[in-house]
Amino acid sequence: MDSRPSVVAPCRHCNIETVWLQMAYGGWRLFDAEMHPTDESAAGNRFAIRRLTRQVVDLDDVHEARWPAKCLQLHRFRCPASHDDSLFHHRRPRQANDIDLEDLWHRLAERKVAQRRAG
Ligand SMILES: [Zn+2]
Repeated sequence: MDSRPSVVAPCRHCNIETVWLQMAYGGWRLFDAEMHPTDESAAGNRFAIRRLTRQVVDLDDVHEARWPAKCLQLHRFRCPASHDDSLFHHRRPRQANDIDLEDLWHRLAERKVAQRRAG
């Protein structure tokens, strides 16, 4: 299986930036490339990246004392048109070489700063 990291890329339906991430249970899912407040998220749409494994876990499945303040969300919750795309993870845009996931978080942080400047 091709486990190269994905790159952040705009959804072809809504142009919002998205990223494919590997699930701890296997498979890949398409997520918004931004974090959302966990307590504003719908059930079934609260995910987090485990730092050790760099894989995504469903927060509704983990029985931890407290959830992180922010979580990842599946893109198809806000963009139903992307649902069919989410079945074709082999088409996902990938990093050409082995750049780790920190790159994603740096990009997200940069976007946040840019948004603050713009706003
Ligand atoms: Zn979309």
